[in-house]
Amino acid sequence: MGKALIIGAGGVANVVVHKCCQNPDVFEEICIASRTLAKCDAIKASVANVAGGRTKVETAQLDADNTDMIIDLIKSYKPDIVINVALPYQDLTIMDACLATGVDYLDTANYEPPEIPKFEYKWQWAYREKFEKAGITGLLGSGFDPGVTSIFCAYAQKHYFDEIHYIDILDANAGDHGYHFATNFNPEINIREITAPGSYWENGAWVETEPLEIKKVYNFPELGEKDIYLLHHEEIESLAINIKGVKKIRFWMTFSEKYLTHLRVLENVGMTSIEPIDFEGQKIAPIHFLKAVLPDPASLGPRTKGKTNIGCIIQGIKDGKPRTYYVYNICDHEKCYEEVGSQAISYTTGVPAMIGAMLMLKGIWKKPGVFNVEEFDPDPFMEALNKHGLPWQESFSPTLLDEEL
Ligand code: NDP
Repeated sequence: MGKALIIGAGGVANVVVHKCCQNPDVFEEICIASRTLAKCDAIKASVANVAGGRTKVETAQLDADNTDMIIDLIKSYKPDIVINVALPYQDLTIMDACLATGVDYLDTANYEPPEIPKFEYKWQWAYREKFEKAGITGLLGSGFDPGVTSIFCAYAQKHYFDEIHYIDILDANAGDHGYHFATNFNPEINIREITAPGSYWENGAWVETEPLEIKKVYNFPELGEKDIYLLHHEEIESLAINIKGVKKIRFWMTFSEKYLTHLRVLENVGMTSIEPIDFEGQKIAPIHFLKAVLPDPASLGPRTKGKTNIGCIIQGIKDGKPRTYYVYNICDHEKCYEEVGSQAISYTTGVPAMIGAMLMLKGIWKKPGVFNVEEFDPDPFMEALNKHGLPWQESFSPTLLDEEL
């Protein structure tokens, strides 16, 4: 059916490639292109026998900060879609290349300028008209959160509510990799996200908090009680627009005391700073050095045991009566590793990226412009989650996060 150019060769890319190869009727050909060719070749070697090796896999070296280089690769490879699973810093250069060549675009994380640690959709929403005029689709945030959590909200809106008032997005990871300190995905992106001020959406405006200021404890299905902290997260921005009438949206993530103690120390000594310092005649951002010292997230796969549970608690009105709905996915780190050689954080991001690309290639999710995932019909995506490794569960009587709602 189609040909995909996959940019990036990290933990998430590894899952996307495995999942594309498991679906060779849709992904007949793929090219893995990233900064380090050896990583692309290693992923290629690991999928040689997936589904009988029916998907034709190529690799290419690519600097995705360089739009001209991406354009050249797109022109020579001629993909039907570009799946961006490099870093958020490359979103705009890749979108520019897609515009120049008339090819559909998909990513899993929104653009963040390297010098400003703040996720905002304004940079990518500015491409809406240009994509519309070019007749191509740009699908933003087709990972888990953003991604599946946004689709969960669209599904709830479509099937269970007349009005949604409150959304709590809960991201719990009870995985244990045995290291004192490591991040489950790119350390720089992860640490920038956690050390930034928190925020939530209430009555049409952002309410800002100190980093990790608001903490609660929640008893997660299959995971038990975990500490959760309120964070700013990118899907709040688009859901506030796309879920009409919503009054409050919050995002919560679990962190262990051990993780936060290490983070506090690293922060206090300046190791998480993005401001470059002079070191032996060289400019270096401490966080880049820290990334080099920490375990590569891709290496956590074989060591991580336990499960993740990510979902949404949604409250609102149906037929004049209050209704509460909890929809979530539970994913097992070890099972993910067994299947694709990556842990659950990469798995829960890579599977939705493949599903988004599949729906676009099949023409099911396709219209000119730039869209967040919740702007499309959630049903085919929800069905595909059950089929491709991320089954979801639902409950109409969950424990609520707090009484004040
Ligand atoms: P990794 O750091 O493991 O991989 C990133 C890859 O991008 C690496 O292969 C890296 O190359 C490559 N890359 C970086 N810069 C360039 C460049 N200029 N040109 C070409 N390639 C480049 O990250 P992950 O796989 O963990 O994450 C991938 C994306 O997924 C990130 O954007 C992350 O924010 C997002 N994500 C989204 C989630 C969601 O639920 N929505 C959850 C988790 C992640 P090299 O190997 O040479 O460094």
